Amino acid sequence: MERLRTVPILRKEDLPALQGKRWPLGGWASWDRVRRLFRSPGPIYEPEGPGPDYWGCAPVLHAAGFRAGDVVLNSFSYHLTPAAWMVEGGLSAIGAVAIPGGVGNTEMQARAASELGATGYTGTPSFLAALLERADELGIVLRFEVALVTAEPLPQALRDRFEARGIRTQQAYGTADVGMVAYECPYKRGMHLLDRCLVEILDPHTHEPVRPGEVGEVVVTLLDPTYPLLRLATGDLSALWEEPCTCGRTAPRMQGVLGRVAEAVKVRGTFVYPAQVRAVAARHVEVRRYQFVVRRTGDRDELVARLEAAGPPELAERFAQSVREVTGLRAQVELVPEGTLQDGAPVLVDERRWD
Ligand SMILES: [Zn+2]
Repeated sequence: MERLRTVPILRKEDLPALQGKRWPLGGWASWDRVRRLFRSPGPIYEPEGPGPDYWGCAPVLHAAGFRAGDVVLNSFSYHLTPAAWMVEGGLSAIGAVAIPGGVGNTEMQARAASELGATGYTGTPSFLAALLERADELGIVLRFEVALVTAEPLPQALRDRFEARGIRTQQAYGTADVGMVAYECPYKRGMHLLDRCLVEILDPHTHEPVRPGEVGEVVVTLLDPTYPLLRLATGDLSALWEEPCTCGRTAPRMQGVLGRVAEAVKVRGTFVYPAQVRAVAARHVEVRRYQFVVRRTGDRDELVARLEAAGPPELAERFAQSVREVTGLRAQVELVPEGTLQDGAPVLVDERRWD
């Protein structure tokens, strides 16, 4: 790890330029090993190498409850991007049967899953919700027992809906560049890191490691003979827990994706992330809605927390204290009347104008 820290960071957003400069794919790919080529937004090209389960999805599916002989509807896109093929590799390695559903054709996919007796689902949580809804409308019986969902946040309410229907639902984290990185165990408190890659959580600006539990950027190293990537800065924010998990696995857990580095707003020289804003609000259950606003008065940035809350009078003071603990910044706290803030509005807004 010490020697790895001397290797420069490879920023994901620099990949399109680097891949264009040197062939193959930045000069890192071993051409004789490449079996498929994918294109992700950027454009960033990703190679798939030989062998079963190239992307490391089998242990992820196994932990989610998928087993040999299961019939699984795989509704990731099979075109250009690699997610469907990551799942395919894993399903094939554990001996499960895939229905390559792809994207769209909701009714046709629901009928096929029903008639072929699918017990597993892989894809986005929103498509699973759409599929179940359509099936209910048409009176189609779906018998999903396990679902591996990724590529989107999974709101707790949606997970509860799936689980109320008897679908054990677990998430995983990966990137198109390196494949699977982390997965949930049955306890669903964070995602265990797979040992196929090395994960660092770094301060996105100094590139120094953050303390355990602190938010930083996910930086992944994959020592793969087809396409090795050293210290790829993903732009995703997360935190790492090192405490042991109830399931007995000793691998550290990451806290899911807490946001994107690009969403950060610089306030008086310090970066603030939406994830930090949410972490502050989570400490104060009496706050119903909240929004942090960055304004400029004269030459000074001001961080203002606007709260809709039915809290005690000292709430403002305690909230400001939490902001300080989490972000290191002083904030003004404004209590606003109920109905001022919109549901679904961004939690961190930069209102400064520089023109
Ligand atoms: Zn666990």
